[in-house]
Amino acid sequence: AVATFAAATLSLSLAACGSGGGSGSGDGDKGTVGVAMPTKSSERWIADGNNIKKQLEDAGYEVDLQYAEDDIPTQVSQVENMVTKGSSMLIVAAIDGTALGDVLQTASDSDIPVISYDRLIRDTDAVDYYTTFDNEQVGVMQAESLLAGLEAAGKPPYNVELFAGSPDDNNATFFWKGAMTKLQPAIDAGDLVVASGQTDFEQAATLRWDPATAQKRMEDILTRTYTQKDVQGVLSPYDGLSLGIIAALKANGYGSGDKPLPVVTGQDAELASVKSIEAGEQYSTIFKDTRELAKVTVAMVKAISAGDKPEINDDKTYDNGKKVVPSYLLEPQPVTKDDVQEVLVDSGYYTADELK
Ligand code: BGC
Repeated sequence: AVATFAAATLSLSLAACGSGGGSGSGDGDKGTVGVAMPTKSSERWIADGNNIKKQLEDAGYEVDLQYAEDDIPTQVSQVENMVTKGSSMLIVAAIDGTALGDVLQTASDSDIPVISYDRLIRDTDAVDYYTTFDNEQVGVMQAESLLAGLEAAGKPPYNVELFAGSPDDNNATFFWKGAMTKLQPAIDAGDLVVASGQTDFEQAATLRWDPATAQKRMEDILTRTYTQKDVQGVLSPYDGLSLGIIAALKANGYGSGDKPLPVVTGQDAELASVKSIEAGEQYSTIFKDTRELAKVTVAMVKAISAGDKPEINDDKTYDNGKKVVPSYLLEPQPVTKDDVQEVLVDSGYYTADELK
């Protein structure tokens, strides 16, 4: 694998020496990049995988793209295979951020650089760089949009419920922490009432970001806590969960008669949620442009192959338990109904037809 990496670097310098470079046909003369994605059950990871693959192939790399359907042993063996088959570099979006230490150590022993993609890989030295969005800011934006939606609908106090992401995903704790910087003061002031009493991250967490789990928990909370009162807001960290939560609310009579749906947040601007926002059901989402994340990641791959230092813009936030991983953070963008056209359609992320 060391030889493969050296060969990849060499052929890159030769190409740079004026032969005109590759045709962009992905003939693989720059080596193979292994790309491990968590699941196809959510659109964003499909878009991430496709964007990275296309951009790397256009730059002359071969790409080994694998999805693990949220199964940790599957992801471990996929990464193992990438190492054995001689990938020259790895891009990994982990399912469980702490489960890849051993296999990545074998990559590191073979001098294969590892880029942690979107989710921080934890508890290992064998990760070189991290590309992601400002995850704490995502949580701040989710909370701000929840508060704005509540204020537009009436006066405090408001009954709200809180959902968090998968406890084994480092991002979930950052989203929660960011959201709580805005929500905790409002809870302390009595403006927000979490009527279920479930205010700890552990109580709010949703293993593997599973929509059905969130739907079930929302149903349980509604039947136990909301017999005599209504819920007015729900912090949801991801569009898939938001749709599950909205389904539970509708099954309990919200969204018809004199019982409006609560303000429900989200993340990822997935198509079904953007349609729900347009239909006045989900209140907001957070857009993270996966095209841009692919772009900065591919730029890192190119810099590393050329023996250069890749560009980073953060060297203090992401301590993975073993090292502070040099990172490139992108800015997320909040989206409500008013922003769909400008942020999602004018930018070319969706066509107007897709949103119909
Ligand atoms: C990502 C989010 C996504 C979630 C569920 C997180 O790690 O940052 O964009 O909503 O995983 O897939």
